[in-house]
Amino acid sequence: MFGNYINGEWVERGSTFENRNPANTGEVVGVFVKGTPQDVEDAAGAAAAALPAWSALSGPARGAILFKAADILDQRFEQVSAEMTREEGKTLPEAKGEVRRSINIFRYFAGEGSRMPGMIVPSERDRVHMFALRKPVGVVGLVTPWNFPSAIPAWKLAPALICGNTVVLKPASAAPLSAWRIVEALHEAGLPKGVVNFVAGSGGELGQALIQAKPLKAVSFTGSCQIGNWLHAEASKRRLRIQLEMGGKNPTIVLADADFNLAVENVANAAFFSTGQKCTATSRAIVEDAIYDRFVAALVERTRKLKVGDGMQPGVHIGPCVDEAQMNTVLRYIDIGRKEAGAPLIGGQRLTGDGYDQGYFVAPTIFSEVTEQMTIAQEEIFGPVLAVMRAKDFEDAMRIANNIPFGLSSSIQTTNLSRVFEYVYRSEAGLLTINLPSAGVEYQLPFGGTKDSSFGPKEQGPAAMEFYSDYKTVYIKY
Ligand code: NAP
Repeated sequence: MFGNYINGEWVERGSTFENRNPANTGEVVGVFVKGTPQDVEDAAGAAAAALPAWSALSGPARGAILFKAADILDQRFEQVSAEMTREEGKTLPEAKGEVRRSINIFRYFAGEGSRMPGMIVPSERDRVHMFALRKPVGVVGLVTPWNFPSAIPAWKLAPALICGNTVVLKPASAAPLSAWRIVEALHEAGLPKGVVNFVAGSGGELGQALIQAKPLKAVSFTGSCQIGNWLHAEASKRRLRIQLEMGGKNPTIVLADADFNLAVENVANAAFFSTGQKCTATSRAIVEDAIYDRFVAALVERTRKLKVGDGMQPGVHIGPCVDEAQMNTVLRYIDIGRKEAGAPLIGGQRLTGDGYDQGYFVAPTIFSEVTEQMTIAQEEIFGPVLAVMRAKDFEDAMRIANNIPFGLSSSIQTTNLSRVFEYVYRSEAGLLTINLPSAGVEYQLPFGGTKDSSFGPKEQGPAAMEFYSDYKTVYIKY
């Protein structure tokens, strides 16, 4: 049984919910205590009580605890990675990559404790010393999705803590164990009681309590646009600071001058790895007319070689959808795609038999000749479904890529340097890759989108400190 963590105690009262393996639904990965609105209130109260002492601790002292938590997670690297595969479905190599990233994120922000960059500039006035130092925002609510069940909690928790804030974390119900392991590591590292509080349970039931918790000063949310926009409206009523990272409909432009094989590989990787359940996954491949037919044929052949199965098995490239609801959403969009664009060139169905019956497996699916107004070119599907679109030339491809309400990630495959720069300056996404998959980011630079995908300061890298801290500006006459 995995309890909630409130005021430094593991709380195991109340009803529970099961966390099941989406590759094998007969396997219960964990039984979690279902938090209540009262638990959220208690957690926020504990965070408020812990705030003065935690924020008064020096940055390096806070960093020392984060370094220790990273070491504890590192010691459990194999176990925690395997648990992630079992609760979320991504392949074991992908899970290992994510846990490694969480450890690195903790070490990166632990180091920020010794820097905590403020500002110091010369005054215009005689014998006046002026500077700005950082101070924490206060009690922060963190709400995270299931698709990166360790890295996203890590990239919110670590900067929040190093800046001296205290936290209430609400993980996704479909994959709470990876976040629980981080909280466990922080507990064992000696984090003072109340500094981090963890309440699992239904977002629909806990969300209202969180956003209304009196001590709360800020909320950082990653998830769907629907929930993010609701949280934003609620947070605005109280003038809470808010940061939202939400959906995308990310394009990869493939130009005729691209390194052809690399482009095929990058699109297949970005569209289908992690079962297409990355917010930065490519869901629209926009291919220049001159190579369209050849590219689509090669992409279909590459996709045919992808092995779908239980992510714990060696040689598997693509795991299941995270749960039945997500699988049904994907299958519904495939039906819509059939009506709009005709039969897919490959995939298009749930996989059954041959070890698939106990999981939520969907074959990687490619629709060709998709046009801009089709639903499958407009709406986020969040599964292994790719819409391939034909562009007359570079200008047409740029127009199609930007002609969408979202602006999370975007990619171009080209060997033409001028077009790379045209693309970099004119793309409306927040995260660009060139000759790489659209997904696959590092923690040392800002992360986040534009337009309907995101709201508020960026996450990760030095930019993360902006959301989790405030400036206090000081003038001294001496
Ligand atoms: P979701 O349904 O919006 O859930 C995200 C989190 O919000 C979960 O913890 C969920 O709890 C919670 N929640 C649900 N209703 C709530 C409410 N009324 N108040 C407060 N919290 C509530 O999203 P998801 O299905 O987990 O994740 C997939 C989405 O996340 C996709 O749209 C994807 O693009 C996006 N995403 C974006 C990024 C990015 O950086 N831009 C990164 C990863 C994922 P429950 O689990 O209990 O429902």
